[in-house]
Amino acid sequence: MVSFGRLADLYEGLEATSSGNRLREILSSFFKNIPKDEVERVTYLTLGNISSDYADVNLGLGWRMVLRSIAEASGTERAQVMKLFKQTGDPGLVAERLVGRRRKALSVKEVFGQLHRVAAASGAGSQESKIRILANLLRNASPKEAKYLCRIVLMNMRLGVADKTVLDALAVAFTGKRENKRVLEQAYNICPDVGVIAGTLVRKGLPAVKRIGVMVGRPIMSMLCQRIDRLAEIPAKMGTPFAVEEKYDGERIQAHKDGAKVTLFSRRLEDITSQFPDIAAEIRGLRAKSVVIDSEVMPVDAKGKLLKFQVLMSRRRKYGVEEFALKIPVVLFAFDVLFLNGKSLIAIPYEKRYALLQRIVRSDKWLKLANRTLCNDPDCAEELFSKVVAHGGEGIVIKDLKGAYEAGTRGWRWIKWKPEYTKELRDTFDLVVVGAFYGTGRRGGMLSSYLCAAYDPAKDRFGTFTKVASGFSDAELKSMHKRAMQLRIPHRPARLDVKDSMKPDVWIEPKLVIEVLGAEITKSPNHTAAGGLALRFPRFLRVRTDKSAEEATTVKEILKMVKQ
Ligand code: AMP
Repeated sequence: MVSFGRLADLYEGLEATSSGNRLREILSSFFKNIPKDEVERVTYLTLGNISSDYADVNLGLGWRMVLRSIAEASGTERAQVMKLFKQTGDPGLVAERLVGRRRKALSVKEVFGQLHRVAAASGAGSQESKIRILANLLRNASPKEAKYLCRIVLMNMRLGVADKTVLDALAVAFTGKRENKRVLEQAYNICPDVGVIAGTLVRKGLPAVKRIGVMVGRPIMSMLCQRIDRLAEIPAKMGTPFAVEEKYDGERIQAHKDGAKVTLFSRRLEDITSQFPDIAAEIRGLRAKSVVIDSEVMPVDAKGKLLKFQVLMSRRRKYGVEEFALKIPVVLFAFDVLFLNGKSLIAIPYEKRYALLQRIVRSDKWLKLANRTLCNDPDCAEELFSKVVAHGGEGIVIKDLKGAYEAGTRGWRWIKWKPEYTKELRDTFDLVVVGAFYGTGRRGGMLSSYLCAAYDPAKDRFGTFTKVASGFSDAELKSMHKRAMQLRIPHRPARLDVKDSMKPDVWIEPKLVIEVLGAEITKSPNHTAAGGLALRFPRFLRVRTDKSAEEATTVKEILKMVKQ
């Protein structure tokens, strides 16, 4: 059995050290020299906890209550205790000064057990019982033990030890190799609970740690996105096809359903279920016995329009939750599934996970699948990007269909693309409209994107250069539709070179010239201007009635810009 005195000595040693390496050494030699069944408890206490961070186990003892316990245990006037607290600012130091007439030695196991009793006390009179239990512990503590006991209770150890430090020390102590910390860190990504990892390691060894999997009710670290400089890099990074999803600027929610029990975790793995009773009800209604869903929650107005992230802040409250759920409705956009009916899904390809997600989530008013499309090339990604940006969205996330769910990792399986990454839009082009596509949804039945070409006077031919879908006001869209329909022809314009992938819904006689703002010129397999160049991030500026098709920007001018 490990005495609490030994633990207090350990903490004193750690507190006196400023070197990270030394912290690890001290900790690992301590782990090596205690019975294995004490390791889990020691890891929790060392991190100022009595259970995992995410578990709903709260001691419920604030510093005022801790000071009252100190007064009670030491028989000191409360005013005197307060005075000392004002001088030191640390209840731990106050306890060290005042407590110390111990009657019997405390063990780590006993302290741990009593602190769990503190946490379990609830309801009427619970404050008094919490104070009494702590006071009883303090009565049996040495001054040094009292100091660390109070710091544990207040979850403020001041030792400089973080979860990662403990994982390192565990790797050295029980596998003999610091390199094995990678295995522990990987397990931590899936089970961010140092106590569970420590317990598994000492009881069952490293292979068992490798097998730690997703468990419903226990959060896993979120997968994160990398960023790239140019959308054109996507196929090289993840092959084709790939998925492109709207990136919602709300709050991440990892939703766990285990029968009727639902837990919602934030990006930082805090339990935020009580803030979102509406979302919890949606998740409870899913057609699965147990499931873990990755998603983003967005505030919406009465008409379902997405609102800004800041609006969500007022849902962060202890009281009036139901009232605010009605005042500020939210929609949950689901984009991944990590666990289903007893099985972890994180190792299977995203493509397969998504097929399962589609089966579980049937989009309704409050729970929807994220806006998504499958793409074969960067132009297609850009198309969704332009649409998202046009309605004020944050950007897109591009996802590798073959990718596993890489918990806690910012890798190349998910790549984010936001407007800030696009270079400043500065070059304008006068381009000839040669085709048009019908819109969907609100723009159904209306031509809403336009295939545009540059002119090659040497060959007297037009080559497609871009597809413009953004920058139009509603009125401009209407008038463009009218003009285009007047120039509609039943076949490809004779002087136009166009790839099959760009075949429009409607061919247009090359007469209408529009001014377009663009950001970047890149090589593209979908366009034919200047041997396959394309304009990225095009925005419509205005119709150039003053220009004829042959006065449009020439391929020579485009090539000159590329060379600059
Ligand atoms: P960032 O915080 O800019 O690194 O972007 C990553 C965050 O985007 C994630 O943590 C999610 O909260 C959020 N997000 C919004 N929409 C999606 C989506 N469709 N797929 C993945 N993450 C998304």
